[in-house]
Amino acid sequence: MKELIVITGASSGIGLATARAFQEKGHPLLLLARRVERLKEFEGKQALCAKADVTDMKGFKHAVLEAEKKFGPTGCLVNNAGVMLLGLIQDQNPDEWKQMYDVNVIGVLNGMQIVLPGMIQRKKGTIINISSVAGRFTFPSHAAYCGTKYAVHGITENVRKDVAKYNVRLAIIAPGAVETELLSHTTSEQIKTDYEGWKKEMGGVLSAEDIANAVLYTYFQPPQVCVREVMVAATRQEP
Ligand code: NDP
Repeated sequence: MKELIVITGASSGIGLATARAFQEKGHPLLLLARRVERLKEFEGKQALCAKADVTDMKGFKHAVLEAEKKFGPTGCLVNNAGVMLLGLIQDQNPDEWKQMYDVNVIGVLNGMQIVLPGMIQRKKGTIINISSVAGRFTFPSHAAYCGTKYAVHGITENVRKDVAKYNVRLAIIAPGAVETELLSHTTSEQIKTDYEGWKKEMGGVLSAEDIANAVLYTYFQPPQVCVREVMVAATRQEP
């Protein structure tokens, strides 16, 4: 049997496109999201869909253990679940910062701690953390979100070094703007309008499938090859 692929935030956008792409390659899947009802298309196929919040370590771990019982050890974890609540620090609701740090940072740490012990023991495994160009550069009204993605970059690179000797691969995918539901959760209408205008100005952005391609490229390298980072954005995106 092919290796189990675990994908967080599989109910829309990049996670969903990645799930479809791995399924096409014949991999068993564990798909995690809170809106698990959106994952009906995978039912009856080689997939477990579990309602899980990545900030809840217990529920997240339980889902992974159940999937491993059925499909064998996790070959690859795609830590993709994320939220982007844009705002200016001087007037943004601090609850939005907390949500982003909980999901984008703690969620990623939770996922890594769940699968790393087994990967280290087997001396095999891949963790792909979805960061962002906002993990390398800053953008207007992105301060708190940028902080979470700079954290994902830093944490991933540190863990990569910590576990390299166990033959475990850590990779960062850093997308530029992608057409998904991500922006819709931002509460400021003005920021959303400006962001949509920016996307339009550059003649459109990447599709979720473009990022799924980068994930598969990273995973399907031979085990001795670690793609440390893929930064991928629309050709016409400048920053
Ligand atoms: P979407 O909003 O389409 O998808 C986000 C996914 O995350 C959903 O499946 C959602 O599922 C899940 N999610 C959110 N909160 C939680 C939670 N607490 N527990 C579990 N799952 C959660 O956005 P994208 O596909 O664009 O985002 C995927 C990743 O890509 C994110 O990390 C994002 O930061 C990153 N990214 C996106 C870019 C873009 O322009 N779109 C650019 C750069 C990076 P549910 O609500 O059902 O739980």
